[in-house]
Amino acid sequence: SADKEKLASVAKIKVVVRKRPLNKKEIAKKEQDNITIEPNSNSLTVHETKLKVDLTEYVEKHEFVFDSVLNEDVSNDEVYRETVEPIVPAIFQRTKATCFAYGQTGSGKTYTMQPLPLKASQDILRLMKDTYCNQGFQLFVSFFEIYGGKLFDLLNDRRKLCMREDGKQKVCIVGLQEHRVSNVDAIGELIEKGNATRSTGTTGANEESSRSHAILQLAIKKSVDNSESKPHRIVGKLSFIDLAGSERGADTTDNDKHTRIEGAEINKSLLALKECIRALDNDQLHIPFRGSKLTEVLRDSFIGDSRTVMISCISPSSGSCEHTLNTLRYADRVK
Ligand code: ADP
Ligand code: MG
Repeated sequence: SADKEKLASVAKIKVVVRKRPLNKKEIAKKEQDNITIEPNSNSLTVHETKLKVDLTEYVEKHEFVFDSVLNEDVSNDEVYRETVEPIVPAIFQRTKATCFAYGQTGSGKTYTMQPLPLKASQDILRLMKDTYCNQGFQLFVSFFEIYGGKLFDLLNDRRKLCMREDGKQKVCIVGLQEHRVSNVDAIGELIEKGNATRSTGTTGANEESSRSHAILQLAIKKSVDNSESKPHRIVGKLSFIDLAGSERGADTTDNDKHTRIEGAEINKSLLALKECIRALDNDQLHIPFRGSKLTEVLRDSFIGDSRTVMISCISPSSGSCEHTLNTLRYADRVK
């Protein structure tokens, strides 16, 4: 069908970089924007200031090429069009799609990720009404986080959840609430509720959320022979993942033991994620899911007909240069 053809033309893995503008604080500190993006190009250049042995400064340039590079003027609507919009119709055709936001804390992951599920569900509900009316499709939302290798339901007071694998190697998160939704307002409320639950940690909002991966899933299900009482079969799934701050993976030498353990877990999961996406891209038969809780949970989103979008968020400021280069190198390995 035309839909299938269109889907075949959507890349299996797409890597997008989004640069945010300098913020007030950075401008006040007279930090420089050290990233240049040529208009309408897929490449960007990081201008890294370094010191010679005699302490004079020089600039080293690093050029990177990605599937798409979005500069600081690009709106969230445009980000949606460039990343998630093309894969939405695919989830009616048994595709599992995943969109990640990767980057250091403060680089714009949450700013980028938050509007996407809402825009996607708007499109999904429209397709259900127009293209697939009376076909028994239903939309379900769930939202949970992985913190220190443990799962918590963000739509049910951070209740701790367990993961189980059934005989067919399908993952099941026991007790995870799934909310059936039929209008955009209801989805907006659930997203807001989940985000609020996420940030009520013990040491303050950003600090906590930067150490967890937040996973919002939109599942399309179909009731067998249109009956309300029979169990619903899952058709396709779209997952949005606001990853832990990439710099947290380096917290492995911190003085605080708890922070060290969390840092090691984050490091492990980001490495495992990279390995899984690379294995997918090479059509490898063995995908190293077991490397971390994150990749285990996402297992069924990676097998079969899947689509992956990685949005790497970067800060333009000279002070973030090292983290920015780390993020771009990570994205480069995934591409
Ligand atoms: P992260 O989730 O990666 O820690 P945030 O999404 O919280 O980062 O972004 C940090 C700050 O920068 C927030 O105040 C956010 O509103 C702002 N910000 C991020 N990206 C952009 C952007 N593209 N345009 C304008 N402001 C942005
Ligand atoms: Mg965030």
